[in-house]
Amino acid sequence: MDKKAITKGLLSTRSAFRKSLIKWFEQGGKIYPWRATDNPWKILVSEIMLQQTTVSSVIANRRFERFLEEFPDLETISKAPEDQLLRAWEGLGYYNRVRNLQRAAVAVLSDHHGAFPKDATILESLPGIGKYTAGAVSSFAFNEPAPIVDANIARVLARLFNYHSPIDSTAGIRQLWEWAESLLDRKHPRIFNSAIMELGQTYCSPKKPDCQSCPVRKFCLSTSPESLPLKKPRRKVVRVDEHAIFFEKDKSILLAQESGDRRKGFWRLPLRNEEEVAHLEPESKFTYSITHHRVTLYLYRSEVTPASAETFVPVYKLDSLPIASPIRRAIEASL
Ligand code: SF4
Repeated sequence: MDKKAITKGLLSTRSAFRKSLIKWFEQGGKIYPWRATDNPWKILVSEIMLQQTTVSSVIANRRFERFLEEFPDLETISKAPEDQLLRAWEGLGYYNRVRNLQRAAVAVLSDHHGAFPKDATILESLPGIGKYTAGAVSSFAFNEPAPIVDANIARVLARLFNYHSPIDSTAGIRQLWEWAESLLDRKHPRIFNSAIMELGQTYCSPKKPDCQSCPVRKFCLSTSPESLPLKKPRRKVVRVDEHAIFFEKDKSILLAQESGDRRKGFWRLPLRNEEEVAHLEPESKFTYSITHHRVTLYLYRSEVTPASAETFVPVYKLDSLPIASPIRRAIEASL
């Protein structure tokens, strides 16, 4: 049988597939705080938070609940100063996510009279909301028939359809969304999307899929699931050295405020180039990763002449300032 006929075979049994998947989920689906609500603001917060942070880390540290205690609604976040936003997001990384949450809240208040649109295509026009997040808010909050494809669902779909092309190519992305749309249970979109996502988080895991116990095994076309999904070749890791100064005076330390796009508004230790610190011995060394960079941070305890954007900040104020986690760890280890 050719590939198209096989794929058609799975789609022709989609009704039975949906039933099996939903039945399994209803019997043992996990209960997360964001599954216990249909409030679109709370669901949007969870979706944005979970984009680059694992479920276990969000749950263990009560990040979802703590964020909503500080910003329970659109009005509260829309009025928050940037310092407060960044501090509330500290440790989660990718800080543009929280700036976009605020922009989306402002847009819902000003353009939609404070009521979230139900339709995924309208949600997608809000700042920082992509196709996946729009579908998630539309289906989880409003039970609208909007498909979703995240990393877990992409893996499940690639295996279900035995797809041997890169899922992050333009053609691959288009194909996965088509399948997500075709398989979606339009009568029960909320539960179907939760179920297929959870299948990827449980049985259909990246390294060791448990096909023997999988509730949709009889529908799955995959012959070697461990080898799927395929992806385009990865970007190489770039190693970078940073040389930072730790200068403490009168219970204050010298800090600089970031101005670049990625960490705008954050405080960091002042940096110097390698020649400027060539006469000093590093006191300590830290390593951290950011996107495809592997950074080695050398820390020098020294008195220096502050540059124009650098200022002394009292140590007692550090807790209230936004400081990226690796830099905070370096400061705390040096105090
Ligand atoms: S049978 Fe295996 S590969 Fe297929 S969906 Fe289930 S766990 Fe994934």
